[in-house]
Amino acid sequence: MSSTIALILIGVAVLFILGIKFLSSPKTARQGNLVAAAGMTIGLIILCNREGANIWLHGHNYLLIAIGILVGLVIGAFGAYSVKMTAMPQMVALFNGLGGGAAALVASLEFLKGAQPTQIAGIEVPVLHDPSAAITIPMLFATLIGSLSFSGSTIAYLKLEGKFEKPHTFPGQNILNGLIGLVILGLCGWLTFNATGHNAVIAFLVMFSLALFFGIAMVMPIGGADMPVVISLLNSFTGLAVAADGFAINNTAMIVAGTLVGSSGTLLTLLMCKAMNRPVTNVLFGAFGSGSAAQAAVAGVVGTVKPIQADEVALLLAYAQRVVVVPGYGMAVAQAQHSVRELTEELGKRGVEVQFAIHPVAGRMPGHMNVLLAEANVPYDQLIEMEQINPSMDRVDVCLVIGANDVVNPAAREEKTSPIYGMPIIEADRCKMTIVMKRSMAAGFAGIENHLFYKDNTRMLFGDAKASLNALVAAVKAS
Ligand code: NDP
Repeated sequence: MSSTIALILIGVAVLFILGIKFLSSPKTARQGNLVAAAGMTIGLIILCNREGANIWLHGHNYLLIAIGILVGLVIGAFGAYSVKMTAMPQMVALFNGLGGGAAALVASLEFLKGAQPTQIAGIEVPVLHDPSAAITIPMLFATLIGSLSFSGSTIAYLKLEGKFEKPHTFPGQNILNGLIGLVILGLCGWLTFNATGHNAVIAFLVMFSLALFFGIAMVMPIGGADMPVVISLLNSFTGLAVAADGFAINNTAMIVAGTLVGSSGTLLTLLMCKAMNRPVTNVLFGAFGSGSAAQAAVAGVVGTVKPIQADEVALLLAYAQRVVVVPGYGMAVAQAQHSVRELTEELGKRGVEVQFAIHPVAGRMPGHMNVLLAEANVPYDQLIEMEQINPSMDRVDVCLVIGANDVVNPAAREEKTSPIYGMPIIEADRCKMTIVMKRSMAAGFAGIENHLFYKDNTRMLFGDAKASLNALVAAVKAS
């Protein structure tokens, strides 16, 4: 590699790092995407200019590359423009799966490129010659992890689409999965030292197929609502597979990009698990939502449910000094973000201080609430994170809980037997008055009763969040 290319690739790595840095704040997230995309484009151009640097470009098949880029651009742009905000997790799952699948194919082609048709017992079969031992391990690693990520993400996508959403479990499932995992590792170990001959080709294809199956077997027992955590984990797998590809085909930009995705995906997985107060092992092997958690913790509820009407809430809001909105998954379902903004603007005009309390796992994907509220042009400085807003919740006159449930459930503090005990929550129960907006008394994702709904200072405004908010806007305007 010439020193100029090496320097440019360092620049590409810097662009990737800056891209990720910018993505950490809603204010700069759009620039982050553009900066990382610019880095990727430069990386691709450099790859095309490295004549003979790898097998695909050896024959200068630029037409095929151009067609691939064009097809990818059209599908990507169409998907991005047409996807609904509530379907974002599905989109991420699909993209991640395709990335993993591509990484696995690159590594497989690289591994099998030395296979020559050879006559064995009169039959022509592919036989591996001249394996490059130094890159066998990254190639096997990328094939294994990439294909697992592909099939796992496909199942995650289907679960998010509502197909076989419940955890699918059977006795001895973890043991069977463990055994398949051992066979895959055994094959990889054998191939590392025996990557020659026809048997190596067969062993490789068996390993590839088992890895695909393992991805399905790993994700099937996990409940649909845990999919964002699973996708984040699979995303880190895809990153690692791409980094391993980078080692196999000697591409620095891929090594850097893959490592960044791998580490950020792992960190995100751990952060989400911490915010739910559940270990990763509980997400992967706990079959959360299969019934045991749902049946637990109905006990311990004290108080009665007190419904309220929109015009009464409007009066409370109009005369409040400080209002905090706690958005949750129901706001996303109702697509009520624009109505919330309208209400908060109306209150702002009357001198009411309005803030949004953002729980890290409110909704069904990381940053779900930030994305929705940003789409509705809610000012970023009104979005306050859980740790910052909790200490001042007792000074809030009215707290509007919009389609949030688990993330405001005081059972997480009060009920030691609750499945969510220990999960950090937004302490809406400490406000002077809390209005919960939802359609019924149904439970949230964790499937448990919410103690907040029965507290003395809580009122329930039943109905679809968007319809209730529109009624509130009209009532506040009229008051
Ligand atoms: P929840 O799932 O706890 O509750 C959502 C509530 O919204 C429901 O109780 C439902 O009640 C209500 N709702 C649904 N549709 C509407 C509507 N149209 N109008 C009004 N209300 C509606 O959501 P939270 O955001 O509080 O909590 C998120 C949960 O998801 C947490 O348990 C978290 O651990 C989990 N999770 C989050 C991830 C993430 O990355 N964000 C990842 C994995 C899990 P009703 O049917 O009565 O209207």
